Parts: sequence; structure tokens; C-alpha cells
Amino acid sequence: MPEEIVGRVLRLVGYTAYRWEFQESSLSLTIWVRQASSRPFYTCSGCGIGSERIHSVRERRVRDLPWGAWKVHLVIEVHRVYCRRCGVCVERIEFVEGKHPYTRRFAAAVARDCEDAAVRRVAVKWGLSSQTVKRIDKRSLLAWAQRRRRRPLRQMGVDELFWGKGKCLTVVSDLLAGEPIWAGPERKKATLDRFFVEYLLARRRRAVKAVCVDMWQPFLDSLRQHLPKAAIVFDKFHVMRHVNAAVDETRREEFFRQSPHLRAAMRGKRWLLLTRWHNLSPPKRTQLKAALALNRRLFKAYYLKEQIERLWSYTYERAALRFLDEWVKSLRWQRLPAFQNLALTLLTHLDGILAYCRHKVPFGVVEAINGNLRSLIRRGRGYRDHEYLILKAQRSTAQARLALAA
Ligand SMILES: [Zn+2]
Repeated sequence: MPEEIVGRVLRLVGYTAYRWEFQESSLSLTIWVRQASSRPFYTCSGCGIGSERIHSVRERRVRDLPWGAWKVHLVIEVHRVYCRRCGVCVERIEFVEGKHPYTRRFAAAVARDCEDAAVRRVAVKWGLSSQTVKRIDKRSLLAWAQRRRRRPLRQMGVDELFWGKGKCLTVVSDLLAGEPIWAGPERKKATLDRFFVEYLLARRRRAVKAVCVDMWQPFLDSLRQHLPKAAIVFDKFHVMRHVNAAVDETRREEFFRQSPHLRAAMRGKRWLLLTRWHNLSPPKRTQLKAALALNRRLFKAYYLKEQIERLWSYTYERAALRFLDEWVKSLRWQRLPAFQNLALTLLTHLDGILAYCRHKVPFGVVEAINGNLRSLIRRGRGYRDHEYLILKAQRSTAQARLALAA
């Protein structure tokens, strides 16, 4: 009778429990199991064909899911058998994961917990080391990634992620799939070169039509070398960061030129100046208008910033070029050195800015991926293993998408 109950609770197909031992001091239960059949049959772990001839037997102890308050270990008879193809070979046991000291369902439970809790907390819950939990989680993610269909990379994003003290990561993403695909340390040409060697082999590169990237020379050098035919599109958010920097510099210059009472009026308006007009609430707009009325140059700077956004609304390169030309001309006699420098930057990177007319890459996706990675890093306290970080991000993106679809 107890054998039957233990067997039913365990639910290991084809196996039966024949002995168990409770250890009160450590709340640990050990159960010995073996094949139930009177004529046992073994599968070769090398080639998968069956065999009945046993070479030798030994016992193997693996961790299984807990029963109530008890921590459970199984002791399994593992046979070495004579295989027609491989010679002497260890049998395959379906419910154990490879050579690891736990059952498949145990690993699956740990991996499931890792989906919404930090590795450290999962480790405490299961009484495992952080490294073990991380290894289980990564293996499960790798298996999941291998089951997915790998689509050709058509639109690629390259971005850098900064966090902590001077730590930086180069992140490559698939913009159409909306997920990161690779990450590497620092942001050198060598970093991106490594991506092409490790991930995107030569025969896969032809599919890439456009790359969204910022105006960072080392990346551009690597892209020219490995993807000579792909169009390079400069990330709008990065270009706008340069524009905002020019507004800010103008603000600072004007701030120091002004008399004290004007300075007081302009204090604390930085945020207003850097926000787009249509994102401001009516009272904020009134505040900004009042501040801009006091200083003509600042007004001009703000106006120029609002104008340049239109550059990304064109479908015809010539029209965009004409617009930019007008914009640069309107800088004349304005005495805005920060904007003169900005114009120079825009003109030297003209190709990559105008390329957006032909290749409408989704700029927002790059930012979203970046934000997702950042929150993962914050929760996990730094992922030194970049492959693991990327797998985590892909999995959470896929799940968010599933939740949305449901
Ligand atoms: Zn074999």
C-alpha cells in the first residue's frame, strides 16, 4: 500500500519506489526508485536506441520537488548498458536533466520562479546557491531560444547603455522583432566587430537593409566594414539630444550675460526649454512664453529646436534637404554659436539623417529596448554575463507580447 501512494505522488512513468528514509533533523526525505517492469528496458543516452543487456549499475542521487515540508531526493538506479552502436553506454533517464543533480521538473520550477523574481531570492527559497539558480535559469532560457524560429535581421539597431560608474554596454537589436539580440562590453569598434564575428555571419548580413545608430564614429567604422550595402540611419533621439544640448548651452550663455532680475526670471526654466511644445500643459506654456519674451536669443533657440523636428516628417530627400537648408540659413546673423556648431554636425552627418526618408526605422523601439534592459540590470544588480542578460530581455519581451495578445 505505501509503495502505491509514494508511486502515485511521485508520478514518474514506468518507475516505482521501493524504499524511503526520513531524516527528521534536516527535514529531508530520500526515496529509492527503479523501473517498475519485470523486464526493464533501457535507452542508450548516446544514440537513443534500446538495449536490455546491463553492463553495470550504480546509484545516483538527484533533487526533486518538495513534498509538503520535506525536501526530497531521489536515488535512481542508473545502468550502463551494451549498445549495438556505441558499445558500453549510460542509459538515458527521461525525468533527469542530463548530468545535473536534479530532476527536470525541479529545474523547470526554479526557472519559472526566475521569471519574476531576482536570482538571489529564488536561491534563498530553494536553498541553492545563486550560481546554481543562474545556471538553471540560463539553460532553460537557452532551450527556449533554440526552439524559437530565428528570423533574418532586416532592420538593426545599435545603441549604448550606460549605468553605474562609467559602465557601458553596446546593445544590438532587431528593430522589427522589437528585441535585443546581442550585447558586448564598452563601445569601441572592436565591440561591434565582435558582434559580426559571433552573431551575424557573412551570409546573414545581406538581409540587413538599414541600421539605426547614433553619430558615434567607432560604430560607423565597423558598420561600413561589415555592412557596406546597408543604409545607415541616425537615431532621431540622439540627434535631438545634440539639439537640446545646443538649447541648453544658449540658455547658460544668456544666463550669465543677463542682469540679476532677468536671471531670477529665467531660473528653473531649463526643463521647460527642453520639453517639446506640444507636451507642455497650458499653464507651463504660459510660463515658458513669459520666460522667452525676456530674451530674444533664447526664444530663437527654442523656436529652432521645435522647427528641426520636422526634418523627420519628409519622405522625399530633396524636400528634406531644402528644409534643412532653410533652417541653416535662418541661423545667419542670430549669433547663436551653439547652433552654428550644431548645423555643422548635422551637415557632416547629412546622409544618415536624410536616409530616414527612405528607411523609416522605428526610433521608439530602440529606446524601449534600452529601457527594458536598464530595468533588468537594476533588478538583477548587474549582469556580468551579457548572453544571460539578452536572453532575459528576450523572454520578458515575448511574455509581455503574449500578455498583450491575451
Ligand atoms: Zn547507443
